[in-house]
Amino acid sequence: MIVMKFGGSSVANAERIVNMAEIVRSRIKQKPILVLSAMGDTTDLLLESANNALKKGVVSIEAIEELHLKTINELALGNVLQKEIKNLFWDLGSLLTGISLTRELTGRTKDCLVSFGERISVRIAAAYFCSKKIKARALDAWDAGFLSDSSFGQAELRKESYVRIASAMRILTAEGTLPVVTGFIAKDENGNITTLGRGGSDLSATIIATACKAGEVQVWKDVDGILSADPRLVKEAKPVELVSYDEAAELAYFGSQVLHPRAMQPCIQTGIPVLVKNTFNPAAPGTRIEPGPVKNASLIRAITSKKNVTLVDIVSTRMLGQSGFLAKVFAEFAKAGISIDMIATSEVSVSLTLDADKDLSIVCRELSEYAGVEVKTGKAIVTVIGDIRRSSEILHEAFGICRKLGFQVQMISQGASKVNISFIVNDSEADSIVQELHRFFFSVETSKKPAATRTRKAK
Ligand code: ASP
Ligand code: MG
Repeated sequence: MIVMKFGGSSVANAERIVNMAEIVRSRIKQKPILVLSAMGDTTDLLLESANNALKKGVVSIEAIEELHLKTINELALGNVLQKEIKNLFWDLGSLLTGISLTRELTGRTKDCLVSFGERISVRIAAAYFCSKKIKARALDAWDAGFLSDSSFGQAELRKESYVRIASAMRILTAEGTLPVVTGFIAKDENGNITTLGRGGSDLSATIIATACKAGEVQVWKDVDGILSADPRLVKEAKPVELVSYDEAAELAYFGSQVLHPRAMQPCIQTGIPVLVKNTFNPAAPGTRIEPGPVKNASLIRAITSKKNVTLVDIVSTRMLGQSGFLAKVFAEFAKAGISIDMIATSEVSVSLTLDADKDLSIVCRELSEYAGVEVKTGKAIVTVIGDIRRSSEILHEAFGICRKLGFQVQMISQGASKVNISFIVNDSEADSIVQELHRFFFSVETSKKPAATRTRKAK
């Protein structure tokens, strides 16, 4: 058995759904379980409509309705589906009217609202499979066993879900029915709809795979796999053949939008491989993600960057040599609900990075009681994912490139997961560093390598 997950762009319209169904049909012998995202940009459109209802008191779902109804017509599913989908749109409209009248949008309401995207897409896809003589059933995540806590927008699955998912899936696959399950959503104990975070369908897929002990998870996207760099930045970026779970998770956190950062977690217990494939180019091998470490791997797997990062330098003024300084610092951030990305410490100081949208005023006030605090905005994290057992080599080359470009590295950290080296530079410098690093590490021609490193090689 395999789990096949198709993202929004892979089910964006009638043509893409037909293409998706062909891919599934070609693998039907492997007994797939499908996990689907909402069609195209539906989730964004739903959030936009919520905002319009909240801020302007306007209820408008025409664009969302049009996309889905057009698709249903083009797939000739009008007879079987029109009524069911219309009912869902009716509920969606009512919910938005509620928001527009109360001018209130809680996390709970927001999760309920975005759930409509996935709930509609699985119904369309399942009906299409049935029309093509493939017995399929659309399932809302809660009917497939997904039970979560009540952290709306970022829900965690409860352990008992795994047994429930396995038995729900077993019943369907035993009778030869193709399960088509909503990604991204779940329900809490009180029956409230929750979501697993943006891009959460990847996580839904790996959860189902783990619960059902599937042989493989295939994540179908609109790119040829995890790329060695952001292709908008580096023209020569190429798909990475093989990465470890750790490497994939690091890539997801630091810039690569290919997979949900938590998606690898369920697989770690079972070692199930994840294959990232392209629906627009199914023949391409894609990227295979496996338990690490990756054997015979090259020095570098990928280079990413994350911009608009804030760097906070904290130097203890009073607690020189005292224990508890770091604990106190972190407690301040925890109290403010601010999550920290990177840290570097010395005896009396700590530097850390966070997303720029965080309000630091309270934290700074508290910290200044016992430390000097300097907040520097406009920074970027450049992350190199690779064989960190050869970190000296990687650092040597990376810093040689920064020196050549005349850029100062302002902080550095080597991840505890032993797969990444990250360093901080100015926002404006990040693109050229990523391009130069990529050119150096991925080009085969030594002659193209920067002067600083060529000298070393020549020795
Ligand atoms: N539709 C949701 C989103 O766009 C979940 C997903 O696509 O994985 O975030
Ligand atoms: Mg999506």
